[in-house]
This record gives sequence, C-alpha cells and structure tokens, in this order.
Amino acid sequence: MDAHGEIARTIDNYRDKVVALSHEIHEHPELKFQEVFAAGLLTKAASELGLEVEREVGGLKTAFRAEFGGKGPTVAILAEYDALPNGHSCGHNLIAGAALSAVAGLKSIASQLPGRIVFIGTPAEEGGGGKIILIEKGAMRGVDAAMMAHPTDMEFCTMPALATQHLRLTFHGRGAHAALAPWDGSSALSAVLQTFQSDDAMRLHLRDGSRIHGIITDGGQAVNIIPVRTECMFLARGKTSKYTKEIAERVLRCAEGAAMATGTRVEHEVIGGYKNLINNLSMARRYATHSEALGVKSLEAPADTPTGSTDMGDVSHVMPAIHPSFKIANRGEGNCHEDAFVAHADSKRGYDAMIRVAKAMAMTAYDLLAEPELLASAKKEFEARKES
Ligand SMILES: [Zn+2]
Repeated sequence: MDAHGEIARTIDNYRDKVVALSHEIHEHPELKFQEVFAAGLLTKAASELGLEVEREVGGLKTAFRAEFGGKGPTVAILAEYDALPNGHSCGHNLIAGAALSAVAGLKSIASQLPGRIVFIGTPAEEGGGGKIILIEKGAMRGVDAAMMAHPTDMEFCTMPALATQHLRLTFHGRGAHAALAPWDGSSALSAVLQTFQSDDAMRLHLRDGSRIHGIITDGGQAVNIIPVRTECMFLARGKTSKYTKEIAERVLRCAEGAAMATGTRVEHEVIGGYKNLINNLSMARRYATHSEALGVKSLEAPADTPTGSTDMGDVSHVMPAIHPSFKIANRGEGNCHEDAFVAHADSKRGYDAMIRVAKAMAMTAYDLLAEPELLASAKKEFEARKES
C-alpha cells in the first residue's frame, strides 16, 4: 500500500469541504470556552468521516475526542478553534482545518493502520489552557505522541514557545479627598505605577528571551479621590517553566516593595500559566522531510526566533510533541493577534498552506505508527529532555 500517496489523494479530494468549514469557523469567531459553533461543525464533519465522536470531553462543553485505527501505538492530532476579541487573528480556523484534513487522510487507510489515531478538539488556547484541563482529566492518557500546526508569518518545523505565568495584583490604599486632605490617603495607584517602574528596572537582569508585560485593569475610582483600590495584570515569560516562576516571583517582590513604599497593601493571585514547548526533533525532522517533498522547506527555528506561548507546551511535557509554524503571510504584513492577520487566515494562501501541512502531519503520524524505530527515537528524546 502506498500510504503516503493515499493520504495525499484523500486530503486533496477533501479540500473543498474543509476550506468551506474553515471559512465558516473564520466567519463565526468565538472566544475561549465558547466555541460551540466551531466544535459543532468539527464534530459533525468527524461523524461524517465515520468516526464515533465523544463530546464535552473532560467536562469542557466545546472539547471532543474521536479515535480510530488498529492495534498498536497511538498518535493524537489536535485542533484549536478559539478566536480573539478581534476575530480569527491567530488563524485557529486553519489549525482546525489542518487537523481535520489530516484525520480525513488517515481515516481513508484506517483498516491498514498499524496503530491508532486520536482526533482531539482542544478549546481555549487563548488564555484558557484547554489542553492543560484535558491532560488533567485524562483525555490524553494512552497517547504516545501529539501534533498540531499553527499559522504565522514564518515556516518552521519547530517553535521555541516560552513558558508563562499570569499574575493578578490588587493594591489596597486609603481613600481621602485628593485636594482637601491628600495627606490622609495612601494611593493604590502610586503602588501600581511604582510596580511597573521597578519591573522596568529589573528587566536588564533577566536572561535573554524573557518577557514581562502588564496592563492596569483598575486605576482608581474617581479623579478627586485618592485611589483606594487598583488592579493590574502581568504575564511573565521565560524559556523554561522554572525560570518563568522565578521571574513572576521577582514581579511580586517589585509589587511588595511598591506597597511598602506607598503605605498600601498588595494581594496577588497566580491566574495560570503555560509550560515552554519542548520540540521533539525526531518528529519535527520527519514532518520537515514531508513538507519539503510537498514543496515547502520547513527548517528548525533558530533559538532567537520571536515566539509566544501555547498550552501545547504543557502537552510537550507529558509526551513527544510538535507544533510547526506554517507561513501564510509575508513578514511585516501582519502576524498573529494583529487585525491584519484576520484576512490572512481566510486567504487562498492560508488554505493552500493548511492542506499541505495537513498532508505533512498525516504522513508523520502514519510514520510514527508504521516505523517502531521512529516512535522509539521520539520517546527516547522525550525522556532525555522532559525536565528542560
Ligand atoms: Zn494561536
């Protein structure tokens, strides 16, 4: 059997259907955990492929799971489909389309598969950590390796995504008339401003590639009252989860220092965080080989590649995983989360890339099932790097 050829033919034949589906998702952007429309379309399409779909997996209304194949190891193909307040500016409609197409390709040879494929719908990548919840609820138990692919303005078979810690800081001051008796007050806003300044001073001492960025979510109650309560949020990012925790602790110390200096009190809450992405090179290189054969070189991302964060990082800490980036826009013409990227996520270029990536993923998944030494090498590498 020419498995790769059959996969490619099936995905080509599936193109019109999956492009229409991906476009529909694009036209109905839904925020994290609210992806009812997208999950509905994807589960319907999976059922039409003959899959038995489990809905509301892990207690998440918009998560789903479908499994097929024969005896042997199991590879998961993950779909994301949540949007941002400015629409599908992260192109998750293409991630969903690529995953579904890959599954369609593999389903066409299901009876000859030397293992199992799991199609998992993972909600809320944008700040909700759907994959973390699914891991905790056991939805990824028994899976040997996982993959997904994300559109950007770069083409790479790896993505050095950073770990994050999301902090909320609340300051409590003492209110007073801002003109009549300011000496009776202590400003919770001054504490926020000092926190930002201390963080800026601290940046110099962070390791390369680290990030701290924050916003003020409550700046006070009225201009003529010394602010009694203020709130700000920070994201700390770093190359490893351990170091990111250290950065978040430094941000907290800046806040405590600011509170002391301004006579206020600070409370903090760790809202959540993602782990850094450990790119499994055994898998990524095989994916790159298929991508190149399909006409597009997908190199390993250099260490200083600009990057964000993803809950796929958490998946990569429990099993071998890849998260290649595929290019749907030129540099400078809009990248992820920018308004301009919304149009790229619904373009012919985007859909062409989605189909090619679907083939490369499906062929890689097939190879992991059909070549025990490839999966063994992915697992060996995972074991050696999992604490990083
Ligand atoms: Zn994204």
